[in-house]
Amino acid sequence: PLPAAEGRLEFRDAVFGYGDGKVILPEFDLTIPAGQTVAVVGQTGAGKSTLVKLIARFYDLSSGSLTLDGVELNELSQADLRRNVVMVTQEAFLFSGTVAENIALGRPDASDAEIQAAAQAVGAHEFILALPEGYDTDVTKRGGRLSAGQRQLVSFARAFLADPAVLILDEATSSLDLPSERLVQAGLERLLGNRTALIIAHRLSTVEIADRVLVVHDGRVVEDGSPAEL
Ligand code: ATP
Ligand code: MG
Repeated sequence: PLPAAEGRLEFRDAVFGYGDGKVILPEFDLTIPAGQTVAVVGQTGAGKSTLVKLIARFYDLSSGSLTLDGVELNELSQADLRRNVVMVTQEAFLFSGTVAENIALGRPDASDAEIQAAAQAVGAHEFILALPEGYDTDVTKRGGRLSAGQRQLVSFARAFLADPAVLILDEATSSLDLPSERLVQAGLERLLGNRTALIIAHRLSTVEIADRVLVVHDGRVVEDGSPAEL
């Protein structure tokens, strides 16, 4: 297996379509150095989700190259890919089970101490302790139902525990109340750490914490610069 990745991503002459004859990414070239936080913005249908899903390998390129630390993504084993690239989806996905089990998805070997440390790291520990049965609260049961912001924080704790080199996040468009939004924002910043991250950003506050902003239009990067430049 590949050692833990550093997280450099490189698209070269990448072409992608969904197989219906329409090209979504025409001749795409992009290098993302390890550790960079990249905000991806653009109109609906621009190709933002397609771009990040290629990195999570939901699909393979039609032609060209996409590498992680110089290794073709489609040559990585599923295990190496899962360990190194984690995608946090828009509607934070929780399954029936306890809060602890939901955080440990992908790390079933994790100890309670590791689970709680991950929750603490992203600022989820306090609200979890306040639930009827703390970490043992069933998220599908009455009293265990979590708000949208709390679900986001649980999914951040899950990603923190998985500790991938590359983090992909399709930011939720659903609006949160201000205190929740602040908590989620703080959790996101702590989750980012030194990882490479691509965030489809819907909030200005997220664009502002990025090292780099890519504006995508019709499957092409039409602007590429720091938040201050754009
Ligand atoms: P939004 O802001 O609405 O999420 P987006 O920038 O994420 O938009 P994509 O979802 O990447 O855009 O879509 C880019 C193009 O690919 C669109 O023309 C869309 O219709 C098409 N597309 C997306 N998913 C599929 C699919 N599964 N099969 C075929 N075409 C698709
Ligand atoms: Mg999208």
